[in-house]
Amino acid sequence: MTRIAYVNGRFCLHAQAVVHIEDRGFQFGDGVYEVWSVRRSRLLDADGHFDRLDRSLAELRIAAPRSRRALGLIIRELIRRNRVRDGLVYLQVTRGQARRDHPFPPESTPPTLVVTAKRVDLSAAAKRAETGIAVISVPDRRWSRCDIKTVNLLPNVLAKQEARESGAFEAWQVDSSGHVTEGSSTNAWIVTADGKLVTRPADNAILHGITRATLMRVAAEAGFGLEERAFTIKEAQAAREAFVTSATSFVTPVVEIDGRTIGNGRPGSIATALRQAYLETA
Ligand code: PMP
Repeated sequence: MTRIAYVNGRFCLHAQAVVHIEDRGFQFGDGVYEVWSVRRSRLLDADGHFDRLDRSLAELRIAAPRSRRALGLIIRELIRRNRVRDGLVYLQVTRGQARRDHPFPPESTPPTLVVTAKRVDLSAAAKRAETGIAVISVPDRRWSRCDIKTVNLLPNVLAKQEARESGAFEAWQVDSSGHVTEGSSTNAWIVTADGKLVTRPADNAILHGITRATLMRVAAEAGFGLEERAFTIKEAQAAREAFVTSATSFVTPVVEIDGRTIGNGRPGSIATALRQAYLETA
């Protein structure tokens, strides 16, 4: 099937979709992005991701390229043209194309807008949820505004590659005080011996995950206690359960951290129930 992308006002063949070599996203990583999961051709947590996009743009003082309504129409059309039932939508906005120079370009420079949609086979993710994933820990080498969803993902890329090379699926980043911030592309959670959920507060050290926020609501409705606090790798290794959340992985149980087995080495019942509850709600 021919894939279609959207670039700066036009739908075009994905294989021929291009931005200029002097785009600030390419040259400085001067841009932000969002990812929505698509299920049954519908965006999950649509408003949460749009709200975060607005916030990321405002924090970096990049002009919104289109109204939310217009972006929604573009995304819907892209889902239709690519016949995506289950998949992902990726949207990126950069500070636009300009002669390479660090300060912001003239205000008249239009932001660059790129949107893509792709099909995803949900069975691979479902299998991962059934067996659980292994996680390694790595130092958090990022800047102090991890709450902004920028395209500057080099530390995340290196962390994920390190995980893959050591046979793990995700890397949990650890700050200078020895506490887990988050995964390279997921938020990190543990379950205490008495069944309370623990995840780091949504401060500047982590991305404020939309799945994280929805799951907090789902968990509260299901009667789970929640502690928003930082935890160490040692506490996580001794936890009853551990799991990660993201738009692409939903809720995925963690069964091994730095080679140590969590619980009995099988996905925990709480994480598994929360995955189910999330998928029914989102
Ligand atoms: N942390 C990081 C660093 C991420 O890249 C992501 C994925 N966007 C998440 C957490 C999870 O966020 P969300 O639930 O909004 O996908």
